[in-house]
Amino acid sequence: MEENQKNNLLNKKEIGWKNLDTREKEAIFSFSNGYIKFLNTAKTEREAVCVAKEIAESNGFRDISTFDKLNPGDRVYFVNREKSMYLAILGTEKLEKGVQIVGSHIDSPRLDLKPNPLYEDSGFAYFKTHYYGGIKKYQWTTIPLSIHGVIVKSNGQKITVNIGEDDSDPIFTITDLLPHLAQDQMEKKLKNGIDGEDLNLLLGSIPCDNEKETDKIKLNILNILNQKYDITEADFLSSELEIVPAFKARSLGFDGSMVAAYGQDDRVCAYTSLSAMMALENVKTTAICILSDKEEIGSMGNTGMESHMFDYFVSELLNKSGENKPNLLDKVFCFSKMLSADVDAGFDPIYASVSDKTNSAFLGRGIGLNKYTGARGKSGASDANAEYVAWIRNLLEKNDIRYQISELGKVDVGGGGTIAYILANKGVDVIDCGVPVLSMHAPYEVTSKFDIYTAYKTYKAFWEE
Ligand code: MN
Ligand code: MN
Repeated sequence: MEENQKNNLLNKKEIGWKNLDTREKEAIFSFSNGYIKFLNTAKTEREAVCVAKEIAESNGFRDISTFDKLNPGDRVYFVNREKSMYLAILGTEKLEKGVQIVGSHIDSPRLDLKPNPLYEDSGFAYFKTHYYGGIKKYQWTTIPLSIHGVIVKSNGQKITVNIGEDDSDPIFTITDLLPHLAQDQMEKKLKNGIDGEDLNLLLGSIPCDNEKETDKIKLNILNILNQKYDITEADFLSSELEIVPAFKARSLGFDGSMVAAYGQDDRVCAYTSLSAMMALENVKTTAICILSDKEEIGSMGNTGMESHMFDYFVSELLNKSGENKPNLLDKVFCFSKMLSADVDAGFDPIYASVSDKTNSAFLGRGIGLNKYTGARGKSGASDANAEYVAWIRNLLEKNDIRYQISELGKVDVGGGGTIAYILANKGVDVIDCGVPVLSMHAPYEVTSKFDIYTAYKTYKAFWEE
C-alpha cells in the first residue's frame, strides 16, 4: 500500500510539537506565559472572577446592568455573587436562532475551613478543614499551603484574605507521621492513610502572655488576626476561607513544554476560553463564555451550573435585545451549541493499566474531546450526537486544529462528570472539549503548552463559526 493511501485510511494521532514552525512555537510559549501569570493570581473561584472581570473590562466588556438596550457587537458580562461569571458578545443573528457557548469552571479541589475552625492542642494552634471536591488526602500533607477567601462580619463588612503567596508571607502546612512511627499507617489502604478529620492546618506555637488562660496559643492567634483583620473568633462563622497549595505555577521540563500548577482543572479551560473571547471581533451567532463555580462538588447551589442564574442571564440578553415571544428561552437553548470546556484525563504511561490506550487523550496531541463521560455503562453521561460530533470535527479540521476524541479511562474503571449534561438537558448540543491533564485534582497538575494553545484556538474557531 502506498504511504498516501495508508495515511488517508488511518486516523493517525501524532505529537503536535512535530513540524511546528518557529512562529507557531513562539505563539504557544508566549500564550502559556500569560496563562501561568493568570494561575498565580487566580487560585480560587473568587480570585478568578476578579481577574476575569479586569481582563474583560480592559477589553471593552461592561456589566449587563449598565445597558438599557443591547445591539449586535455589544460586549457584556454578569458576575454572580463574586463566584461565577457569564460573558457575551452579541451576534448579528437574532438570539432565537441559538447561541454558541463555551462553559468551563473556576473552582478546584481544595480544603475549606470548618465553620468553627480554630483550636489548640499540645502547644500548637490549628485550623480544622473540610475538603472540597475529589482529593487524595495524603497529597495535601507536608506541602506549603496558603489561605484565600473572605470573612464577612455580621455588619456586612467584607475582608479579603490572601496569605501565603507573597515571598514575605508565612505559609501553612499539614503534618504527616514520620516513617519510623508509621508502621500501622503504612499498612492502611492509601485512601485511609490520612483521615479527613486529621487534615488540620498548623498555624502557630507562641502562647499569649496571660498566665491564667488555658487556650494561650489559640488566643495569641486570635489576637494576631484581630490586629491584622479586625476580626474575632465568631467572624469565622460567616467566612469562606480556602486552603490551596502555596507553590507557583511553573514551566515544566528541560524543554519547557509543559505547565505544572495547582488548579489547572479547570482554569486551563477558563483562561483559554476567556482569552479566545477577548480576541473575538464581531460574531454572527451570539458568543457566550461561562465561568462556573461548584463543578467539583456537583454544580449545585446558586453559583453552580444547575442554578437558574444562567437562564436569567440569557433572558436578560433576550429582554435587552428586544426579542420577546412565549417560550423563547427554551427555543434559544434548543437551537444552541456548546463546548463543555473541561479537562480530560491525559494518558500517563506510569499508570497505563487504567487506560485504554486507543481511546485515551495524550498530552501534546491537541484538544481532547469526550463524546460522553459518565461511569459504568455511560451512566449519567451526556452523549453528544454523532451529527454534532461531525460538525465539530469539520470545524477543527478546516481550521487545522489538532484534536483527539477519547474516553476517561477504561470501561468500568474510569468515568466522571462535567457541566455538559446540565446544558444538554436544556436542549443544547454539547460535547466535552478540553485540555488533557496529568495528576488531575492533585496539588500540582501537569498540562502541555501545545494543548493549552490548541484549546485557545478551538474556542476561538468555535465562536467565529
Ligand atoms: Mn473539571
Ligand atoms: Mn475536576
